Amino acid sequence: MSEIIKLMSEALANQIAAGEVIQRPASVVKELVENSVDAGATKITVNIKDAGRTLIQVIDNGQGMSEKDAVMSFERHATSKIYKTDDLFCIYTKGFRGEALASIASVAEVELRTRQEDDAVGTCVIMSGGQFVSQSPVSCSVGTNMSVKSLFFNVPARRKFLKGNTTEFQHIITEFQRIVLTHPHIEFSLYHNESVVYQLPKASLKQRIISIFGKSLNSDLISVDIDTSLVKITGFVGKPSASKKRNDKQYFFVNNRYMKNAYFNKAVLLAYDKLILPDTAPPYFLYFEVDPHTIDVNVHPTKTEINFENGPDIFRLIQAGIRETLNKADVAPSIDFTNTEANEIPYFSKNDPVPEMPQIQFDPFYNPFDSTEKKSYSSASYKSAYMSKYTETRERHNLENWQSLYGQEQLFQDDDKNFSGAQQQSLDLENTERKIIQIKNKYIVSPVKSGLMIIDQYRAHYRILYNKYLNQVDENADGVQTLLYPQELPFDIQSVAMIHDIQDELMSVGFDLDLTDDTKPILKGIPPYLDNNKAVTILGNIVDSYKDESGNISSSIKDILAKILARAEAIQSGRVLNNEEMRQIIDSLFATPEPNYSPDGKQTLVILNMDELEKKFN
Ligand code: ADP
Ligand code: MG
Repeated sequence: MSEIIKLMSEALANQIAAGEVIQRPASVVKELVENSVDAGATKITVNIKDAGRTLIQVIDNGQGMSEKDAVMSFERHATSKIYKTDDLFCIYTKGFRGEALASIASVAEVELRTRQEDDAVGTCVIMSGGQFVSQSPVSCSVGTNMSVKSLFFNVPARRKFLKGNTTEFQHIITEFQRIVLTHPHIEFSLYHNESVVYQLPKASLKQRIISIFGKSLNSDLISVDIDTSLVKITGFVGKPSASKKRNDKQYFFVNNRYMKNAYFNKAVLLAYDKLILPDTAPPYFLYFEVDPHTIDVNVHPTKTEINFENGPDIFRLIQAGIRETLNKADVAPSIDFTNTEANEIPYFSKNDPVPEMPQIQFDPFYNPFDSTEKKSYSSASYKSAYMSKYTETRERHNLENWQSLYGQEQLFQDDDKNFSGAQQQSLDLENTERKIIQIKNKYIVSPVKSGLMIIDQYRAHYRILYNKYLNQVDENADGVQTLLYPQELPFDIQSVAMIHDIQDELMSVGFDLDLTDDTKPILKGIPPYLDNNKAVTILGNIVDSYKDESGNISSSIKDILAKILARAEAIQSGRVLNNEEMRQIIDSLFATPEPNYSPDGKQTLVILNMDELEKKFN
């Protein structure tokens, strides 16, 4: 019988290891940039072509390598960072497995140019598919310049598995961001296909965060400083008002290494308990410093999951420490919890004036209970353009609705007879005195033929304004109000990428954008009916909503815009309404095509019918 067990070739072993460490171009970027950081660089430049398929180049001004080390660095388990097992538990540098360069070289063509300060000439090493090709002297500056070309050229399965360029580049940005957020004192640049994506000078941590995520975050951050014997936590958390659904600006770092930690995330959220709405989350950038002996970073090859010896204690420290930070920053709850959908998206800053109750034009003599309403309504000369828009729809959809609701037979007339015994006034007067009350400053209650109608004031008004704005957006299709002073948008790179995708749609509702330079998106024109001061915030909200709703094709930009404008103005619960306002809301609600539901598909009203009422008195 012949021997069947053979030792794997070194190249094959490296390729297998590469499967673990190098999953996509972003993994290469991560490993190379981390090596540059470990080499003490103060300036690191990353050049990417075709989302890393063609080229990933990382240039640093770190300590460089000697002629011998340059070749050695591609050997598996070659590392200058770990010499004995005890070091494994005490790691301060990023790399330590000595696998990255060997793995990368096994699945690509690599050219390394490097020079140390004391050497007159540098050295150039070329590797291809794990094989050494050549080494030669080269003149180059101090530091290391590593070019990785044709990634996965010899592993077609891997290459096929890569996603589109947008997705792969997005992964690169994600890895890049995680590293630059831990090293604000290092200057970084990222280029894609020769255009600048990030140019980050040496900065403070806050400046670095803002240069990544946009100026709009500036006033939202509260600095954190929790110092205990177990852990030191610094960085920033967002004000409660900055919390959002699906917040992606959440970062934990431990000993300057990015980590995922669902458990600690929970601790942060508990600190915000009752300060933010359920289902929303604040941004945070928290940096933990712990004794490296108390963590195990080696649980996963890509090293984003980290085990903590003192996990539960740290959990409690996070929760209490952040709660205290928030208390000190005096961010008392400013949210009405009974009003869940009203705060889905923060629209305007606290300093903005509270929007006034929109004045809905109405016909004070319009009588929805009059069976002859069709005539009186359509002949009314004072009806607003908005109301008239809906006359037709209303006739189609709601006349029946109305009549079955209130009945043909002058319901309120009956009420008056029954309860006040008052003499019948003229029809109009009687109906302006329709019985309507508000309860808990939240619901509008009115008797109807079949029982009692209860309307949620916020949702109803949201529905009314939504249809109004939808209409306005339609009427102004392609209209643009050109800005006298084009404005630079304070958006992060992901938002700008998103805007690229939806630029045409944004233009169709009136947002004219100049995106020739991704780092400087310019707003040139806005929809004609929008307030200049609010346009940028609203555009930001559209992009955020679009992100949230991506995948949900039913939402067009037009729809999102109408929802945002409507939510911003809709009267919140908690607002006291007078009779006239309540009457306007009821009338206008039933003038919309879908009075029973808010634009988000939530019920605007319920009717408690007589049967149900009577059952309660059984
Ligand atoms: P690790 O980072 O885990 O040690 P790598 O395979 O990433 O393993 O790198 C192997 C070795 O090559 C490193 O330990 C370091 O000595 C050297 N090296 C890699 N990149 C650089 C760089 N940019 N500058 C200086 N030395 C480097
Ligand atoms: Mg490394």
